[in-house]
Amino acid sequence: MSEDEIILTHILQCRAIDLAVDGLALTPSQEEQFRRYKCRRLAGEPLQYILGCCDFMGLELGVNPTVLVPRPETEQLVDTALKYFKGGAALDLGTGSGNIAVALAKFVEHCEVIAMDKSAQALDTARANAKRHGVMQRMTFIHGDMSNEKFILNLLKDAKFDLVISNPPYIPTEQLSTLPQDVRKEPPAALDGGRDGLKFIRIIIKYTPCLLRKGACLMMEFGDGQAEAVKQLAQDTRLFSTIEIFKDLAGRDRVMRAVL
Ligand code: GLN
Repeated sequence: MSEDEIILTHILQCRAIDLAVDGLALTPSQEEQFRRYKCRRLAGEPLQYILGCCDFMGLELGVNPTVLVPRPETEQLVDTALKYFKGGAALDLGTGSGNIAVALAKFVEHCEVIAMDKSAQALDTARANAKRHGVMQRMTFIHGDMSNEKFILNLLKDAKFDLVISNPPYIPTEQLSTLPQDVRKEPPAALDGGRDGLKFIRIIIKYTPCLLRKGACLMMEFGDGQAEAVKQLAQDTRLFSTIEIFKDLAGRDRVMRAVL
């Protein structure tokens, strides 16, 4: 579907196939709405913010400028996680819209998911998405910053998770200004991975071994070109028994699974 068609199906609340019907006409107010959406798009706003929603693994999720727009690579992260996580407790670090956490809660019947984020507004969005998909009872939301190491350790000192999962901010700070216009409308805190892009990845790899039960795994997305560094960080802990890297649909290394 083209962007125009996506906008039209949204305004008309119809399916793509319905657009092909002869004589389909917009009312004047729908035409006006279409024009307004197009102007916002031309001004560089991500389509998903304009529509207020996006699709993630077949789930419609609410999104707004306080959260990152979920990406297809992250669907692959969750897809891979679903092969290993069949129940128990999961922790999603930097939950944003709650896409990963809600999908896990939705697709794994006997599980509980803790979703953490440093943005209170992002957590509100994640909560709303959990409600929308009826998984609120199996989810807990924690307002916390993973770069506050003491906070993480204190908070989770007795926890043992079956899965720690994250799509952390991993773009090197100096590349932020070179990103496409619509990506620059997304929250910088959701993208900015510090000087070399690995700031949060380092923290996660350092603390996750304390949070996992033996045999459980850390699953994490990272940026194009970061695979070697990420793998090395995991190896340096000497705590993970297996470290695997998975490719995205374009054949680029984008996901790590590290088993304790
Ligand atoms: N977990 C969310 C996502 O995967 C947010 C990630 C982030 O803010 N870096 O889209």
